[in-house]
Amino acid sequence: MSMRTNYCGALRAEHIGQSVSVCGWVARRREHGEHLAFIDLRDHTGLVQCVVDGGHDLRSEQVLRITGTVRRRPEGTANANLDTGAVEIGDCQVEVLSPAEPPPFPVEDETNADETIRLRHRYVDLRRPRMQRNLRIRAKVNSALRAAMERQGFVEVETPMLWTPTPEGAREFAVPARLQPGSFYVLPQSPQIAKQLLMVGGLDRYFQIARCLRDEDLRADRQFEFMQLDIEASFVEQDDVLAFVSEAVLDAAEAVTGSRPEPIGRMTWAEAMDRFGSDKPDLRFGMELVELTANFAGTEFNAFKAPYVGALRVEGQGDAPRSRLDSLTQRAKELGAKGLVWMRAGAGEGGVTLESPVAKFLNPGELAGIVSLTGAEAGDLVLVVADERRPAQTVLGGLRNDLGRPPVSQGPYCYVWIVDFPLFEGLDEDGRPVSAHHPFTMPHPDDIDRLESDPLSVRSQSYDLVLNGWELGSGSIRIHRSDIQAKLFEVLGIPAEEAEARFGFLLGAFRYGAPPHGGFAVGLDRLVAVLAGEDNIREVIAFPKTQSGLDPMTGAPKPVADKVLQDLSIRVQLPAPKEK
Ligand code: ASP
Repeated sequence: MSMRTNYCGALRAEHIGQSVSVCGWVARRREHGEHLAFIDLRDHTGLVQCVVDGGHDLRSEQVLRITGTVRRRPEGTANANLDTGAVEIGDCQVEVLSPAEPPPFPVEDETNADETIRLRHRYVDLRRPRMQRNLRIRAKVNSALRAAMERQGFVEVETPMLWTPTPEGAREFAVPARLQPGSFYVLPQSPQIAKQLLMVGGLDRYFQIARCLRDEDLRADRQFEFMQLDIEASFVEQDDVLAFVSEAVLDAAEAVTGSRPEPIGRMTWAEAMDRFGSDKPDLRFGMELVELTANFAGTEFNAFKAPYVGALRVEGQGDAPRSRLDSLTQRAKELGAKGLVWMRAGAGEGGVTLESPVAKFLNPGELAGIVSLTGAEAGDLVLVVADERRPAQTVLGGLRNDLGRPPVSQGPYCYVWIVDFPLFEGLDEDGRPVSAHHPFTMPHPDDIDRLESDPLSVRSQSYDLVLNGWELGSGSIRIHRSDIQAKLFEVLGIPAEEAEARFGFLLGAFRYGAPPHGGFAVGLDRLVAVLAGEDNIREVIAFPKTQSGLDPMTGAPKPVADKVLQDLSIRVQLPAPKEK
């Protein structure tokens, strides 16, 4: 016979009269006179009230098995806030399965316990209904994604953890090879190269719910290790990949929320930058960028003699105090602006007026142009930035987010595909283009002949999926021809020998017949976080690291025994203490 007959949270009026056994943790104990106590017993499904005799010394978080009879709660004592609130278990036999020390913090849905304490006792934290819910949402997402990929003909393949560097730009974790002293494996920052090799291997459509490792500074939406739905497919074009991924992501959203989001729309990278100043635009709110370049074509005002002048209209914030405007200016500088011009819109005799320290440098036509182009009304604040086009837009986009962006978790869900990214994100100190995605990304067919003459104008066949201002993932059609790949390495300034040394095995594979292919990776932690209504991915990961990369529960990372180091032929040389 199994230990229990029912889950705590599942008992209802229909069970009245049944004899049941439930198992769980003591959530609460209330004395009822001298001889009786109410115990709320908790398992992952919820709570049930048990009426036990007062002889037991029961404490919070002890593990019990209670056997008794389900009965209706006495008149007037039903609890409408609890799913099991109409019933209780009476005539209880109590078996203490495990004693428990007092928990380090109360096991309740909302907690204000310090995160380090929560992580140190994650096993207690996980008992909180919210964490239970989050991890179960995560499992639902995983299973919906897996089902969607299988339905679309994808086969799940596991790729190695002990691997070699992947050129995707992140710092990588290295693992010493005991049997080859002085050599290291590298933990994959993604299965990128492996999945491309699977395409050469004829797998046709691959997917994996893959662990990726990147040794980068942590943030609310980043951990050293994270999970991706990683996919790659052969004989496909961009539209095919977008369709595969959309299907999987919308299925997952539907599995969690019960309703299927609208089909995911597309926006080019250039439009996203022009309208939102970001390649991950949050479409839940307006406050779009307004281009004023033409308005200042003949301006006398030096600061506005720039390739691009753009503005944000911040509704109703025209009365912001000077200190607030100073901090916006400071923020604009952090975002890379040379300066920020603010204007308060007011009501004048002839219409809307603009008050600003620079107003005296602008002619009436220019001022009127700002009002009509931004649509500013009395009481609004207008912020203006002038610079090169993309840098200025990035500043405005950053301010737009600061001023208008709701918390990630606050609906609705606005998915959007960003397509036609530039192939290169800019030039390095030596004037060489720098890959925007990874160096295996196929240039846009219409732009290939400008690879050398005008590299920054070359678009790529890469695409991102964005949800509420978060980049959910990215992918591309890959270069499968060695001539184009060689040309790209040349443009990137990677000498043939170096390319051979770093990715020779991939280039070698391509010489044996590579199908055209492309793929994508969806960041699972972020997807789950948004669907669970959490702003921080740590809330949807069972055992995350803190922001400083520590695990307060296990104490990792920590020194290992000398013997271990010896076996690995490693000598530790700590950095000299910094001088004060
Ligand atoms: N490997 C890429 C990434 O991890 C995704 C892809 O191009 O498929 O971002």
